[in-house]
Amino acid sequence: MIKPQPYKITCKSCDWSKLFAPQSDVIMPGDRPKKCPKCGSEQLNYKQQNTVTSLLTRLMNCR
Ligand SMILES: [Zn+2]
Repeated sequence: MIKPQPYKITCKSCDWSKLFAPQSDVIMPGDRPKKCPKCGSEQLNYKQQNTVTSLLTRLMNCR
């Protein structure tokens, strides 16, 4: 069982941040913004404790 865990999205450009709390086990691709709603930057940092998504976060941080 994978429990949905809240994750925090932080913008590297303007320090905008928002905490997302998934309602279900499945995180839809549309649930997380690709751009910062404040400055439009795509330099977003995703933080989550979940193992799978932390791997994703690492991949995204490599870009
Ligand atoms: Zn921003």
